[in-house]
Amino acid sequence: MKAVIRIKTETPSPYELTAIRAETHDTKTFRFRLPDGATLDMLPGDFLFVHATIDGKAVKRPYTPSSLPDTVGSFDLTVKRYDSGTVSKYLHDRKVGDHVLMSGPRAGGHWVDGMAKRVGFVAGGTGITPMVSIIRWILAKGLDVDLFLVYSNKTERDIIFREEWDRAMRDHPSLHCFHVLDEPPPGWSQGTGRITEDVLRAHLPPPGPETKLFLCGPPPMVGAVSAALKGLGYTEDSIILP
Ligand SMILES: Cc1cc2nc3c(=O)[nH]c(=O)nc-3n(C[C@H](O)[C@H](O)[C@H](O)COP(=O)(O)OP(=O)(O)OC[C@H]3O[C@@H](n4cnc5c(N)ncnc54)[C@H](O)[C@@H]3O)c2cc1C
Repeated sequence: MKAVIRIKTETPSPYELTAIRAETHDTKTFRFRLPDGATLDMLPGDFLFVHATIDGKAVKRPYTPSSLPDTVGSFDLTVKRYDSGTVSKYLHDRKVGDHVLMSGPRAGGHWVDGMAKRVGFVAGGTGITPMVSIIRWILAKGLDVDLFLVYSNKTERDIIFREEWDRAMRDHPSLHCFHVLDEPPPGWSQGTGRITEDVLRAHLPPPGPETKLFLCGPPPMVGAVSAALKGLGYTEDSIILP
């Protein structure tokens, strides 16, 4: 069997865009080609830099691949488009066949097999990308880990990978998901408004040596949730940020 080549670069390298899938009204998944027999040299949760020259200025932004780490031949970035954004808009303007410059992967707040028996994930919006990669990894490898996702969004149509969450919960009793919406539709039975201490207490595994929490989202959410988690007794080293 041929050994898999593991790719990590310091300098930006071009990757061909091979497919684009709409996830929500403003978020798309972009699939990029890797050389035959190659995968990204990353752990679930690590990130790449996308580089571009926009209006004559070199810019770069970090993106966490959402695809299952160890996938050979391709990887995915799931990116939300901001109207006033620079690199997110640049990516959303790309077409299949275009090449995008990227460097990395770089170490982010990542999952290491065996690091916990119970894992909580608190995500806001595109903060879900490291979580999906970690959750897909743990489920695909059949690791003996209980998973608890608390995912906040503005509206129901902003929930990224909604079908995957619903299907994965049916297939894997170890996965629990709780959605929190700022603007819930009529009859919504899950959380509404902000992620509160009560929501965290009810939907995350309790603090302890076998518990780790991943937290990723807009800075105000991360600040408020970090403070609430500390108030609930989670230690600093049990909370993993991107
Ligand atoms: C480790 C890491 C991994 C990341 N992974 C992903 C990923 O997988 N997918 C993804 O879509 N993003 C991800 N991000 C965010 C990403 O790096 C960019 O910040 C984002 O795409 C916006 O970049 P931009 O150049 O389009 O906007 P910028 O030009 O940087 O910002 C312009 C305006 O856009 C708005 N904006 C930018 N970022 C945010 C935000 N996070 N929340 C609310 N408003 C914002 C603000 O109004 C801002 O003024 C990640 C960030 C980090 C730190």
